[in-house]
This record gives sequence, C-alpha cells and structure tokens, in this order.
Amino acid sequence: MQVQVKAQMQVQVKAQMQVQALQVVANAQMQVQLLKEVLETTKKKMMSRMEKKLTSWVWGHFTRYELEVQQSDGSIIKQPWAKCNRCTHKAKAESGNGTKAFSNHLKLKHQILKGQQILTQSGNSIGTYNMMRMSV
Ligand SMILES: [Zn+2]
Repeated sequence: MQVQVKAQMQVQVKAQMQVQALQVVANAQMQVQLLKEVLETTKKKMMSRMEKKLTSWVWGHFTRYELEVQQSDGSIIKQPWAKCNRCTHKAKAESGNGTKAFSNHLKLKHQILKGQQILTQSGNSIGTYNMMRMSV
C-alpha cells in the first residue's frame, strides 16, 4: 500500500513539475520572441546603416581591397583601400572619411559626377564610356 501511495504522489509531483516546466517554456518562448523582435529591429537598423555606407555611388567606380601594412614594430595591419576602375589611382578608404576623396577623383580625373553611374549602365552608355576613356 505504502508503495502505491508513494507512486501516486510521485505522479502528482511529476505532473505539477510538468505544468511548471510548460509555464517556464511558455515564458521563455515569449521572451525569445521578444528578443527576436529586438534583434530583428537592431539587425535591420544596422543593415540599413551599412547599406547606406556601402552603396555610395562612388563604389560603382572603385574596387575596394585590403592592404596589409607592416607597422614599425613588425606587426601587420589590414587597411581598407580602393582602386579606381578607370585608372591606377589608389586611395585609403577609411570609413570615417566618407567618400569625398573618391567623388573628387572621379570628378577631376574622369569628369564623372553623382548620378552618371545610372547613365553608364543604360544601353546607350557605351559611347559615353568610350568618350570618357579617350579623355583620360
Ligand atoms: Zn581614376
């Protein structure tokens, strides 16, 4: 008899624990959902910020690459650089500096102004592009 009672109690305790566990899971799920939403918003914000930074019109005319620079102490650091697609011009692409130096180069060396990228990509742009090449 005693063993039966004990077994029943254990079942009850187990059931209670299961209910508690379910509640915990439900709470956790809610928290995860909230967290997901927060993460999603943060990600979207970051993405749009990054896109804004990376989709500047000048990057249609420059190829970015990393340059390994040896410091005086022998350590090597990677620097973001960009090379002009139309000539051998290279410049450091420091994120804080914006794209002013690049747009200036395109304007002064290649007579390319903001908005012309769309023109060079359309069908009748080959002539324009060749003319720009010839003027270099
Ligand atoms: Zn150039």
